[in-house]
Amino acid sequence: MKTLQELTRENIWNLTPYSCARDEFKGREASVFLDANENPYNTPYNRYPDPLQEELKAKLSTAKGVPAKNIFLGNGSDEAIDLVYRIFCEPHKDNVVAIAPTYGMYSVCADINDVEYRAVTLNDDFTLNTDRLLAAVDKHTKVIWLCSPNNPTGNALDRKEIERVLTTFQGIVVIDEAYSDFNDLPPFRHDLSRFPNMIVLNTFSKLWASASIRLGMAFASEEIIALYNKVKYPYNINQLSQQQALKILDELPRVNQWRMTILNERRNLLPAFAELPICKAVYPTEANFFLARMTDAGSIYHYLVDRGIIVRNRSRVQLCGNCLRITIGTPQENNALLGALRQYR
Ligand SMILES: *Cc1c(COP(=O)(O)O)cnc(C)c1O
Repeated sequence: MKTLQELTRENIWNLTPYSCARDEFKGREASVFLDANENPYNTPYNRYPDPLQEELKAKLSTAKGVPAKNIFLGNGSDEAIDLVYRIFCEPHKDNVVAIAPTYGMYSVCADINDVEYRAVTLNDDFTLNTDRLLAAVDKHTKVIWLCSPNNPTGNALDRKEIERVLTTFQGIVVIDEAYSDFNDLPPFRHDLSRFPNMIVLNTFSKLWASASIRLGMAFASEEIIALYNKVKYPYNINQLSQQQALKILDELPRVNQWRMTILNERRNLLPAFAELPICKAVYPTEANFFLARMTDAGSIYHYLVDRGIIVRNRSRVQLCGNCLRITIGTPQENNALLGALRQYR
């Protein structure tokens, strides 16, 4: 790996971050707060939230088995993705390499930051072609984006191949594990000490059933987390989201129950879906959704919309011609989907 300083944009490495009132004063005993120009009324909403979310990170550390000092929290994974560009990629000069097809935000954030995005197509069976991926790297490549289990294909990338990328590539490797809670493979966040160039992304939007509070996680070395904290908005996670995240972390038995139900539904829905005459293939999945190749994805999509059922048409995505991406819902929702499709003519 190159040194972190070599990988970081010079202006970010040299940045003096904004110092907020709550950073300067960390004592717990004070009772009179006249330092932040807050309104003294309307408790508790009058106060700025903890800029580093220490209580939440302490609880998350236990739930995820990662030390709090290795955690960054963002306004959704979206923020954790965007900041990777702002920290490491010089517009017009640096580039990133990613698999294709994959999650759309990596390329949108590249475009916003005016950074070249090199998409490397997966093999026809959606497995990683590591040689082709690494062949797209040049001396200006700062970041490689991997997503496992991958969206929209649903499969997990081979761990050995991911490790080959981590050990061969000289820059930052991001592994988006938004869906890793839906399989039993060991997640990469436990290997931070082996791979100092790795950033692992997780989210509250999927397993934790909290997409509305916009909370994403990045796990990385303390040095990379320090860069994240330098560049983020000072109070990027609002107080309501912090409170709600603390609450859902206390409800692990309920969350695990949802997980079991979703996995059970996945087990039942996939073979039933594969038997539909209009379904040509259902691809294996390690996530809470699956990809299915249809006879005519466009008209089936609109047929379902007319019946109030929304799925994702991925037909125009590489390797996904005539494919729909379907989220596993409640048993009732999944039955409504199958019932409607059995009547499709
Ligand atoms: C859904 C999803 C996320 C979650 O993004 P948030 O901004 O945290 O809601 C992240 N990565 C992938 C690949 C996803 O599919």
